[in-house]
Amino acid sequence: MIPVAFSYARPDSVDGALALLAEHGEDATILAGGHSLLPVMKLRLGAPEVVIDIGRLPELRYIRVQGDEVAIGAGTRHRDLEASDVLGSDVPLLAAVARTVGDPQVRHRGTIGGSLAHADPASDLPAAVLALDATIVLRSPRGERQVPATGFYTGMFSSVKEPDELIVEIRVPRTGSAGWAYEKFTRRANDWAIVGVAVVDGRVGLVNMGASPLRASATEAALADGASIDEAAALADQGTDPQTDVSATAEYRRHLARLLTRRALTTAAG
Ligand SMILES: Cc1cc2nc3c(=O)[nH]c(=O)nc-3n(C[C@H](O)[C@H](O)[C@H](O)COP(=O)(O)OP(=O)(O)OC[C@H]3O[C@@H](n4cnc5c(N)ncnc54)[C@H](O)[C@@H]3O)c2cc1C
Repeated sequence: MIPVAFSYARPDSVDGALALLAEHGEDATILAGGHSLLPVMKLRLGAPEVVIDIGRLPELRYIRVQGDEVAIGAGTRHRDLEASDVLGSDVPLLAAVARTVGDPQVRHRGTIGGSLAHADPASDLPAAVLALDATIVLRSPRGERQVPATGFYTGMFSSVKEPDELIVEIRVPRTGSAGWAYEKFTRRANDWAIVGVAVVDGRVGLVNMGASPLRASATEAALADGASIDEAAALADQGTDPQTDVSATAEYRRHLARLLTRRALTTAAG
């Protein structure tokens, strides 16, 4: 399919991108890696009049230690995450989750900011960022604000991000040696998750278990109260609302959430 005609702008700075967003309002959209936006446009599920390409801005592509956190530029590619020595030692969950996203082509183009902004409950990185208790930094002409990942998602493909805001940075606590694991259940290698479970330091993020990425709150509360892994994992689908689709029934997804949570918690416990 061919997208509806649009005009294309490639600003040379974040400020330039923000000015264009402010000028064109809801008629404009941001292009980062394009791996979610272009399919949306080709299927004509979206028809922006102006596409603002931030995919080659070096100021958005970095991974650096900042005190107790690692700061990651929104334009950092999935491949950068998986290959990062800093993440490998300080936030190994994030590097491992990035390694499971799609195939090498997808990982070389897709960005963490694009993945979080797209707000697809089937994506891997949002659940990891939730489990990590990360902070998402948004910038607009009105200034900058920091939103906890746990308060970022509002529903299917939606978040608290305003149309004139850019995700500029993701701040992730350095978890160091805390136990972690990612369990992703797919039909074939490189597929999207039917269900995924990200665990770090007793927190649990769920992929594809509702309209938006979720935390398994009942499991987390049970663990905090001293429940065994088996007891806590049995609660992993509480408060979730998975869909039935061509890949799985909702009931099968619930089963997977409980099973994968048990596996991930067991791995994380060493
Ligand atoms: C074949 C294929 C397989 C895939 N498999 C997986 C998978 O297994 N797991 C998975 O998690 N993902 C998968 N993806 C999605 C991939 O990870 C995308 O790269 C990602 O979801 C979007 O990132 P992007 O940089 O390509 O964003 P884009 O497609 O450029 O943008 C996506 C959306 O985010 C907005 N946006 C982008 N950057 C910003 C920003 N900094 N601030 C504000 N808004 C922004 C855009 O306006 C757009 O609405 C797959 C994609 C493809 C094509």
